[in-house]
Amino acid sequence: MKDKCAVFGIYAPGLNTANLTYFSLFALQHRGQESSGIAVSNGEKIFLYKDMGLVSQVFNEEILENLNGFIGIGHNRYSTTGHSSLQNAQPLLVESDIGPLALAHNGNLINYPFLRKNLIENGETLQTTCDSEIIAKIFASLSGKPLQERLKHTISKLAGAFSVVMSTKDSLIGFRDPQGIRPLCLGQLSKNGDTGWVISSESCALQTIGADFIREIQPGEGVIIDKTGIKTIPSAAPAKKSFCIFEKIYFMRPDSISDNELIYETRFRMGQELARESFILADGVMPIPDSSVPSAIGYAFESKLPFFEGLIKNRYIARTFIQPEERLRKMGVRLKFNPLKEQLNGKKVIVVDDSIVRGHTTKAIVALLKESGAEEVHLRITSPPIRHPCNLGIDMASYEELIANNKTVEQICSYLGADSLHYLTLEGLFKSALKKRSENSDPNGFCAACLTGKYPIFLNADKASDLIPEQKLTKC
Ligand code: SF4
Repeated sequence: MKDKCAVFGIYAPGLNTANLTYFSLFALQHRGQESSGIAVSNGEKIFLYKDMGLVSQVFNEEILENLNGFIGIGHNRYSTTGHSSLQNAQPLLVESDIGPLALAHNGNLINYPFLRKNLIENGETLQTTCDSEIIAKIFASLSGKPLQERLKHTISKLAGAFSVVMSTKDSLIGFRDPQGIRPLCLGQLSKNGDTGWVISSESCALQTIGADFIREIQPGEGVIIDKTGIKTIPSAAPAKKSFCIFEKIYFMRPDSISDNELIYETRFRMGQELARESFILADGVMPIPDSSVPSAIGYAFESKLPFFEGLIKNRYIARTFIQPEERLRKMGVRLKFNPLKEQLNGKKVIVVDDSIVRGHTTKAIVALLKESGAEEVHLRITSPPIRHPCNLGIDMASYEELIANNKTVEQICSYLGADSLHYLTLEGLFKSALKKRSENSDPNGFCAACLTGKYPIFLNADKASDLIPEQKLTKC
């Protein structure tokens, strides 16, 4: 499962915003590894640099030195095959009546074909096949109008998931879709004489550059930051909040804040709930690193079984441009994980993971653990079975590819070669997703469509595949 991009923006007169954006993108690398870019405004011009690759591969000191300005925005694009090109890398730069606009977007517009057709019929020329360009074009189309009006108009025209940062020559803008599907937060630089504002996909980037977390940007809300300070533009059309539940389960970093608590704490509770639902006596509890570590610790805590590490992840394997040769590719998960045989030998182990999509990786991991000496492997998953694809920006799989779409839990367990398998129930997931919901299991406030098939946004369609545009679309 791949997430869709990280966005970041900073307004900080007197500070090196290109450098600060670079380090923030570094902290947000987990949200996208295909391409990276930074656009910086000095009040007159916007300078842009972007390229394919990881943040550390795209930028060097010389490039950053040439990006001078007091407003910076940055973007990491997620990794996929097929739609990968520099043309679609972000930030995007478009011309408007108020000068250049730079834009970075996380999400997926489901009314993209309609909006694209409309713009082309109105004589617009589009440079990319990326839905993000549409957002900038709609914003630019309200010639002569103030930023607030453009912002409200843009939000009202878009349907789907969008967390966006934009820069004009002299202001930084951030806004989020009315359902609040992807995260976006606001931070402030106020230590050591620094002053400035920051907008980021996740709060982990704020800590990296010494900014304080102020709050999440509300669903449908926009903020405009300029020399007069910060203005908030509340949602014109409040909608039912539908925050992606997989941001909590898997996508966000454990040190990021969502709903006023660390993702680490939420995942810990998911592990505890899983232990309550599916306790089994075993020699120990181990995670599939890295995202499942807090849940495995939570499971071990609740079940009073020892926590241990049975697999060590090679964290730097993605940081190379060299494709592994056929022989190495065949080794699959072995390239990514090294088993600790002495820890596993002769043991009955509980293995906690966050999700199973197609099942190929999990099957290979179970085989690796058994070959490394584990006597029994009991899988515990902190999400219910994924039975439906996502139409809101997550590159998941088709109905046919999803293992839980056409197999029972028993059949999946047998296919994976595990000794038992338990998925966290939907009730258990909602119970643990928010602290204040610990006594009931209210599903409101989340999108869980890939688990339930109930999509938060419909376009006169009754199934997900109807919502996914037929046209060749690069989702950003
Ligand atoms: S369908 Fe699943 S992955 Fe997509 S936004 Fe909803 S919860 Fe997230």
